Amino acid sequence: MAEPPPRLEIRNIVRAYDGRRVVNDLSLRVMPGQVTCLLGPSGCGKSTTLRIIAGVEMQDSGEIYADGELVCDTVFRVPPEGRSIGMMFQDFALFPHLTVFENVMFGLKGAVAADRSERAQNLLSRVGMAHHAQDYPHQLSGGEQQRVALARALAPRPSIMLMDEPFSGLDNRLRDGIRDETLALLKEEGTAVLLVTHEPAEAMRMADEIALMRNGAIVQQGAPYNLYNAPVDKEAAAFFSDVNVIEGTVKGALTDTPFGQFLVPGVPDGTCVDIVSRPQHIRIDFDRGGRGPDPTTDYGVAARAKVVRARFMGNESLVEFRTECDGTLLKATVPSVFLPAPGTAMWLTLPRARCFVFPKTGEGAEQK
Ligand code: ATP
Repeated sequence: MAEPPPRLEIRNIVRAYDGRRVVNDLSLRVMPGQVTCLLGPSGCGKSTTLRIIAGVEMQDSGEIYADGELVCDTVFRVPPEGRSIGMMFQDFALFPHLTVFENVMFGLKGAVAADRSERAQNLLSRVGMAHHAQDYPHQLSGGEQQRVALARALAPRPSIMLMDEPFSGLDNRLRDGIRDETLALLKEEGTAVLLVTHEPAEAMRMADEIALMRNGAIVQQGAPYNLYNAPVDKEAAAFFSDVNVIEGTVKGALTDTPFGQFLVPGVPDGTCVDIVSRPQHIRIDFDRGGRGPDPTTDYGVAARAKVVRARFMGNESLVEFRTECDGTLLKATVPSVFLPAPGTAMWLTLPRARCFVFPKTGEGAEQK
């Protein structure tokens, strides 16, 4: 059986302001019931992409399809209200002269009155606002208004939902519940969700797929696990957590470091490389009278390092070290409470399978 077309597909979208491309040849597909997060730093073009799909802004080139049907190219254009697209943007606005219940009912024209009412009540319950149904927006807090706006956006069962940081105004206690509830509902209804966020933890929690953006383009796309564990470059690795970076130079497909040699296959001699690791993957061993752990093939050689400072962070402790041989600074996170005194000598090992090696690009990339 042929696979159904993507619920949402954009092809080669370009948008420039004053000659600067803020969306640069961006292509993306979202299948029914799938949540894709556009993740990237401020100003990388996430919101512009969403506005183009919504139809409130025109692309310079490229096409948008919904369920295989052309919605917009540079000649043909379905107006925003003709697209089955729901929107939940940061600057949502409720109708001030309508009650909460009427606001949610607003988008439900056409259906039988009893069904509309049931749907509106059901959605208000799911976002925890049923008891405010007869209130007016000005009687609600910002977070409560946002929950009503969510219910209103979900009400007409759009086949595509665009969300721009939709949960940012909710306090922490509410956010997780409402976020999970909203996404469960959208998945149940087979909606394709494209959600913008600049918070990696939020993207990893919600997304089936993450599209990591930089300078208007997608630099990597895939399941959260893959982006976290197989980043395409140092910046992609650093977007998801703090990282340690050790510099090296390739000789005979290897590079020497205080932690032993790392394999760098296929990279020419003299190339400068960055060896990148996450703080939670550093192994720490106590000093045994000046001796460290025995080297293993998986972990490589241990380097002696002294604690610079240790801080308790709640669920984990962050310990900063300086290697004795060359003064490299490294951060390690350890679950629970681990607060060794500054100056304590320990041994650090970098598990090879958890390190990423990238040839340097840009400044400092020249061969030595
Ligand atoms: P944030 O996370 O801060 O919302 P973003 O990734 O959503 O950022 P966009 O809002 O898409 O980024 O903006 C991308 C770039 O385009 C920014 O540099 C912004 O200044 C620029 N930009 C957006 N809209 C316009 C406009 N109407 N005119 C000129 N430049 C614009």
